[in-house]
Parts: sequence; structure tokens; C-alpha cells
Amino acid sequence: MPGSRLETPVLIVGGGPVGLALACDLGLRGISCLLIEQDEGLPDHPRATALNSRSMEFMRRWGVAEAVHAAGTPDDFPHTALYCTSFTGYEIARIERPSHGGREPIKQSPERPQRCNQLFLDPILTKLARSFDSVQLRHRCRLESVSEAGDHVIATVHDRANDRRFEIAASYLVDCSGGRSVIRPALGIEMSGSPYVGYFLSIFVRAPDLWTHHAMGKAALVTFVDSNGLWRNLISLDGRELYRFGVTGKQYYDAPDQVDAEGFFRQVVGKDVPHQILSVRRWMARNVVADRYRHGRIFLAGDAAHLNHPAAGLGLNTGLGDAVDLGWKLSAVIAGWGGARLLDSYEPERRPVGIRNIGHAGLSHDNERQQATHPEIAMNTAAGAEARRKMGEDLVRIQTGRVITDGLALGYQYTPSPIVCGDGVAPRPASTVEYQPTTLPGSRAPHAWLSAARSALDLFGNGFTLLRLGSGAPQPSMMERAFSERAVPLNTVSIADPTIAALYERRLVLVRPDGHVAWRDDVEPADPLSVVDHVRGADAAAFN
Ligand SMILES: Cc1cc2nc3c(=O)[nH]c(=O)nc-3n(C[C@H](O)[C@H](O)[C@H](O)COP(=O)(O)OP(=O)(O)OC[C@H]3O[C@@H](n4cnc5c(N)ncnc54)[C@H](O)[C@@H]3O)c2cc1C
Repeated sequence: MPGSRLETPVLIVGGGPVGLALACDLGLRGISCLLIEQDEGLPDHPRATALNSRSMEFMRRWGVAEAVHAAGTPDDFPHTALYCTSFTGYEIARIERPSHGGREPIKQSPERPQRCNQLFLDPILTKLARSFDSVQLRHRCRLESVSEAGDHVIATVHDRANDRRFEIAASYLVDCSGGRSVIRPALGIEMSGSPYVGYFLSIFVRAPDLWTHHAMGKAALVTFVDSNGLWRNLISLDGRELYRFGVTGKQYYDAPDQVDAEGFFRQVVGKDVPHQILSVRRWMARNVVADRYRHGRIFLAGDAAHLNHPAAGLGLNTGLGDAVDLGWKLSAVIAGWGGARLLDSYEPERRPVGIRNIGHAGLSHDNERQQATHPEIAMNTAAGAEARRKMGEDLVRIQTGRVITDGLALGYQYTPSPIVCGDGVAPRPASTVEYQPTTLPGSRAPHAWLSAARSALDLFGNGFTLLRLGSGAPQPSMMERAFSERAVPLNTVSIADPTIAALYERRLVLVRPDGHVAWRDDVEPADPLSVVDHVRGADAAAFN
């Protein structure tokens, strides 16, 4: 294809939220990249809604947290998980999530979990990506094949708008093309995990002020229970009028045209209410992780690398974490200060997180599927009342850990990692529900307010940050010299506040551009150059 070849340092395939997030992260770092998306890039059917605190911290770093708040669920809409037989039937259980949504400060993060469906999130990320001169977005361009050629990758792309084909030569390619990636199978990378497959219908409904038609109040997640179990749920998308009504069952997946979506909706509401069915899609869920996240110059991220049942709302959040891990590493290598092995650290850091999250999603969903029901669960009988009481207790006990996942969101640690300097302290067993702040190398550096609106997390992002904590922290002049010698960007910040110094556990804490702790101690290292080389991926021995 002479004359029709584009060149770019980074080709991102797929303009879903993960591809867009990576484009934004690279754009903010001034790195050139080209994103191709096969469709128009305007989602017309809802998918992910729940952004956890960590994802909101990324939005904060990218400067769009306010836009996400404004586009998402209103502050006063509760993130309650409700279980009932129907809106006009019996309530069975209710799990409140007081630290989700709204604006009240929480201890562990400057950002609370926020609900913002991809219908609203993707346009925010698209607008941000477009704002960078170094980022190019090309819609209606579908990657057809990819090959590796020495120091670059060649992608063959079909420009669907003009029905022509062209090539893109890229130093690196990131596959963010979702669960139906054509790249992963072409590379021979398998997905492993649970053999579980779930079949669903997703029904997009508009029902303005639905809560005014029943007495159960506003709730973000509603699961309806009948004598067949928990097979229908209603997820609020905007806290106003839009919902995703989910129906589980292979029979519905196999014959979506024969499904009486109107009848199902009327059944769970319990009466006729003003509403409109906007679209119906079928989809299949699996809990699997790619066996490898990298093949030469090609990386997998987001749903292309891991797929999970959405019970715990983890797919998008895990994918955003992949984009952030890859963003600074690609930037460092392209800018020249990243070590020869830096990109090799992507898989050992992110694949274990994928495995952990898929495990949690699988467990959450198994618990829900195996929840025993009763033939009279929706009936006004003594046996029905007793069954509801018993199920209510079980649901609160078992499902609280599904809907409150602060430990998963904030507590993931890159331990071990070939680019983190462990200090011999063993990681505490990680809870998926609760988050315990720590500066154990590999963990997310903890949040603390430096002033009314400025978090310690706002210090991180550009290059490395070396924190001097407490009044007796040493001057890290040897570290500063070592970073300068290797041309690795470093910003030293002194924080005298004794409470923050105690939270950070050591007098010197080195934080990476993605906000994870790379090294910590009370004194400067004896050989600071070896620390710099280790954390920038230039210490080949660490990868053996
Ligand atoms: C019903 C449902 C509900 C969900 N709820 C949640 C939730 O509450 N919370 C959560 O965290 N996650 C949730 N998820 C998962 C979430 O939607 C995904 O994890 C997320 O969309 C993954 O983003 P992605 O960018 O990796 O992939 P995708 O969003 O799938 O984007 C991939 C993009 O690549 C494009 N593409 C594909 N092939 C090519 C090609 N060859 N060339 C060019 N472009 C290509 C596609 O058109 C698409 O735009 C849900 C998923 C579903 C189905």
C-alpha cells in the first residue's frame, strides 16, 4: 500500500473507555498517539456505570472529575442495593453505601465512588482526548490484521467511511478492542479462568421519576426475587430516568425477539408506569483473564485482557487501571528515560490484579446464583414471610462484600513487581471490602488532605515524586543527583504535617507517576543509582 502508511509511536485499537483513557493519559504526558475505533464512538446502549474511588482519582488527575460528577448520578441519589419481589411487592434486603456518591469527604480518597454510565463517560473522555494536539482519533476505522516487523508493528486498517485500506506503522500497539478482540487470538493468546458463561438480555428503559410510583424509594441497584431466584435487576444509569433492566437466561439470549420486555418490566414494577423501551441487546458474560498481556510490541488492556461478570462492577475499573499503568511506562520509554525492561513490568503488575478481580466477580456472582429461594417468596403467607426474613439476612451477610469493594478499588498492590523496591515488610492480607492505607512499596500512595481542596494524590502524575515527611526528614540530595544523572523527572516535596508523616510510615517515600509507591526508607539509599535504575526498569537482574 505505497503512499498510504501512517506512522505513530503508539497505536491504540479501540475507542471504548479504556482506549480513550490511555489516549488521555498519553496526551497529558505530551506523547503522540493514534486511536482507531471501528464505530462512530457514540455509545447508544448502556454498559458500565460504577466508577470506583480509584477510577475517580484518575478522572481527578485528568481534570475531568467535575465533568463526571455533573454528568453522572446526582449527589442526592443513594447508591443503595435493594432486593425485593417487585416495587409494589415485598422488600427483602437493603444494603446502604453511605460512602458512595454525593460529595461528603471520605477518609480514604479525595474522590467518592461515582455512578456515571459509559453513555456519559465515553463522550467526556473523547472530548478530553481530542483536546490534546498529540492525540489523533479516527473513527470508522477497523483494524483487520497486525504483524510485527523488527522495531515496529504494522496494522492494516479498513477505513469504513471511504471503503479503503491503509497501513499504520507504530512503535507500540495497545489492544483496547474489548472482548471480541481480533488481535489476541491472532497472537495465539488464550483466555483462562472460570468456565462459567452467563447469558443476559440488557433492556434500556426510560422511566421518568420511577420512584414516585412506588414506596421503596430511590436505589441504584435493584434485584428482583421470585420463586426462580435472582434473575432480573434494574440499574439506575443517571438517577433521573434511565435504567438498564437485566434479564438472565439462555432462553432469552437465544431468542431476544420473542422476549416480552414490556411484560417483564411491568412485572418487576408491579403496575403500569410511564416508560419507554429504548433498545434491547443480548450479551454473554465470562470470567476469564488472558494468559499473557504482552506479545513483543503489542499489549492487551481492558476487556481485551480480562472479562468478568459485571456483578461487582469491575470490568471498566480494572481496565482503567491497565491504561494508567501502561500510560506512564510507554511515555517513559518513548521519552527515553524508561529502562529497557520497563514495559516488561506491565504484565506482572496488572495481570495479578485482573486475576484477583475476576475471582471476586466470579465469587460474587456464584453467591447470587446459589442464593436459595422459596416457592412462596413473593406470597402473603407465613412461609413466604419467613423465607423473606431468612433470605434478607443471607443477602446482607453475603452481598455486602459484593457491593462494597473499597479494598479491591484502592488496596491492590504491585507486590512483587520487578520495578518496585521491596523493603522486607510482608503485605497484609488484603480485604476486598475494606481498605487499609499503607506505603508498602507497590501499593497506592495514601490520600491525605494537604489543604481544603488539595490531596497528597494531586502531587503525583508527572514523573516521580519524592516525599520528605515530618520535620526530621533528610535532604535527599544523593537521590536527586541520581535521578538527574539518569534524566528521570523527579519532584521533591516536603510535608511537615505529623499526621501525614505518620500515615506515610517512612521519612522518604518515592512515588511513581501512576501514584504507586516505588521505594521508601527513613534514610537515603547507599546506592541511589541502583534504586533509580530499579524503578525505571533498567535493572535487568530484577526481571529474572
Ligand atoms: C451490560 C454490561 C454492564 C456492565 N457494567 C459494568 C459496571 O457497572 N462497572 C464496570 O466496571 N464494568 C461494567 N461492564 C464492563 C464494561 O462495560 C467493560 O469492562 C468496558 O466497556 C471495557 O472497556 P474497553 O474499552 O476495554 O472495551 P469496550 O468498551 O468493549 O471497547 C472496545 C472498543 O473497541 C472497538 N473495536 C473492537 N474491535 C475493533 C477493531 N478491530 N478495530 C477498531 N476498533 C475496534 C469497539 O467498537 C469498542 O468501541 C459492563 C458490561 C456490560 C456488557
